[in-house]
Amino acid sequence: MDYRVLLYYKYTTIENPEEFAKEHLAFCKSLNLKGRILVATEGINGTLSGTIADTDAYMEAMLADDRFKDTYFKIDEVAENAFHKMFVRPRKELVSLSLEEDVNPLELTGKYLEPVEFKEALLDEDTVVIDARNDYEYDLGHFRGAVRPDIRNFRELPQWIRDNKEQFMDKKVVTYCTGGIRCEKFSGWLIKEGFEDVAQLHGGIAVYGKDPETRGELWDGKMYVFDERISVEINHVDKKIIGKDWFDGTPCERYINCANPFCNKQILASEENEAKYLGSCSDECRHHPANRYVMRNELSEQDVKARLEAIAN
Ligand SMILES: [Zn+2]
Repeated sequence: MDYRVLLYYKYTTIENPEEFAKEHLAFCKSLNLKGRILVATEGINGTLSGTIADTDAYMEAMLADDRFKDTYFKIDEVAENAFHKMFVRPRKELVSLSLEEDVNPLELTGKYLEPVEFKEALLDEDTVVIDARNDYEYDLGHFRGAVRPDIRNFRELPQWIRDNKEQFMDKKVVTYCTGGIRCEKFSGWLIKEGFEDVAQLHGGIAVYGKDPETRGELWDGKMYVFDERISVEINHVDKKIIGKDWFDGTPCERYINCANPFCNKQILASEENEAKYLGSCSDECRHHPANRYVMRNELSEQDVKARLEAIAN
């Protein structure tokens, strides 16, 4: 384990995000770091990988900067870089909720629950725990009993909450996400919407999984991550697989992207089913002329035909 993945965010004021992004990219490259950083006037959100020495140098430099001095870095030890390239991109907002009126988490956000407190909330009947991530993230793994908003994308969440308000209005509401950044804004928005008792998991699922007291208990499945690892383990107490193979519904935690580059849907599939179904989510995608599975495996027209026939049978 000679490398690390860092996950962090900081709501703070960055005066000129475009300029900052340029300089920060050069800085990251000088440290041989790989990954993806978003910069906005409201702050910074990044996930990076690099050697232990290089990530140390990065964290040291960030913490020495007044704007980022108390940033909390979540650290995973890994065997190799989890990204191929380095991007630093200026954005209008760090996380997009498409709100008519933006929420500043520095002014308004839910109470912070530490992992042990969050675990108690999970077991409390008067508390509703809402997963503030996308549906495909939930489907690979989530907290036991957590509500799965029926949305494709985080920015649809406010509308979904409004449509389902009666279910939660007189309960305590607790939200969680991967590293905590989405909840900073989302929980603030809930308060603005009139919810009275709103809290969030401090540091997100990533911290909960490492906490020595909770050790990820009451989490089922794996956690989706936005790097080449795709998913990581969280529950170190009594792990259950909840992901289901797209094709036959058997327990599965292996993510692939649909081989039709114009579809790209993320699905769970065993290696066997990936081969059988040409790595594609639908019949239409299997027949697509730009099918990546067919190209990558240099399948002849006859090979493809044979596999399609095998599925039909
Ligand atoms: Zn597809």
